[in-house]
Amino acid sequence: MRKLTLAALILAPLLLQACGEPVPEGATVIRAARLYTAPDRPPIDDAAILVVDGRIAAAGPSASIAARGAASFAQCDGGTVVAGFQNSHVHFTDAKFADAASKPAGELTAALDDMLNRYGFTTVVDTASNLQNTVALRTRVDAGEVAGPRILTAGGALYPKNGIPIYLSDLPPDVLAALSQPGTVEEALASIEANIDSGADATKLFLMTPQGGGRYAFMQPDIAIAAADETHRRGLLVLAHPTDIEGINLAIEAGVDVLVHTTIGEGKTDWEPALIDQLISKSMAVIPTLQLWPYELKRAKLEPRIVELATADTVEQLRAFAKAGGQVLFGTDVGYMSDYDPTEEYRLMARALSPMEILASLTTAPAARWKEKARRGVIDVGLDADLVVLDADPAADVVNFAKVRCTIRGGRVIHPVAPAGG
Ligand SMILES: [Zn+2]
Repeated sequence: MRKLTLAALILAPLLLQACGEPVPEGATVIRAARLYTAPDRPPIDDAAILVVDGRIAAAGPSASIAARGAASFAQCDGGTVVAGFQNSHVHFTDAKFADAASKPAGELTAALDDMLNRYGFTTVVDTASNLQNTVALRTRVDAGEVAGPRILTAGGALYPKNGIPIYLSDLPPDVLAALSQPGTVEEALASIEANIDSGADATKLFLMTPQGGGRYAFMQPDIAIAAADETHRRGLLVLAHPTDIEGINLAIEAGVDVLVHTTIGEGKTDWEPALIDQLISKSMAVIPTLQLWPYELKRAKLEPRIVELATADTVEQLRAFAKAGGQVLFGTDVGYMSDYDPTEEYRLMARALSPMEILASLTTAPAARWKEKARRGVIDVGLDADLVVLDADPAADVVNFAKVRCTIRGGRVIHPVAPAGG
């Protein structure tokens, strides 16, 4: 016995070395049939990602990753792993997110899972909502009480004076009365200050809004310019809802950073080369929201032929913008749009972009736009462990971007999650 113990004592360190150093306490390993660390790098088959303290500690071929003793998210193993997705256009205005400060955590987790977690979103940009409620939701997510994505928010948007869009006219009178419609630069600056001081991460401008009967309201250029300048002075981004080409021209003039839609205006819908040149020279990003257009036009009972023509115009806008080198940010307007499944968005984007360009719009492009490349967007050592496990390779078929097996944010599985109380 004594002899055996001695032998074990001598051999143990050698065995340890042969198998690699034991992993730190709390480490978790995810096994991937295929791993894309970034859209512009070749995939790695039979790979592993080691997560420690919510960050990526190692990622590469399985044989090269020392994972002895690591825990596993067994239900997440065996898929195609990519970096966590950002949906750059969402809203938390639905009733199921109301009273976020007091609603049971399980209900909020279920609501977030239904709209976002189950589709791989680890970061979202709320492009207008009730700021106080969204901040309450974000606080509970950040505390780990509710499972959900990281939330960046534009808070309350600014509208043209007497220019609430006709599609919002059904909102309750008290909600309508609270929407900011600055008539002067001073009023706009006061709105922006209150919004940012209360937790907003960006400013959202409605530059051109439909009023019914073919009429539109426009934000005064001096107000739009002052709003953008003040937001930039605070180091934040300006998002704009353009509606039509005239709205895009106003966004260019104001110095907007992100257009939150392509356009299906009533007039000319081509994005001419001169317009695209200006978008590129001003480093503006575009969120295509392609799936939203057939959704809206079908609700308006337009003929399928017209719906397809209008949708094809927006696909063409995206193609021309991306071909010129424009930065595309994935976004679907869920929360306004009740169809949460992004499969159709991926199908439509694939008419203009490659699968890896779509992956960039979900990962590296938004990380760059939000100046967060040092913490997210790719799968590299030291970055946040924001990961999506897909059932199959999206390069083979883009609909696989929507077939999410697991969503991991900061090393924690946020989809699938145990039911409330479980
Ligand atoms: Zn929206």
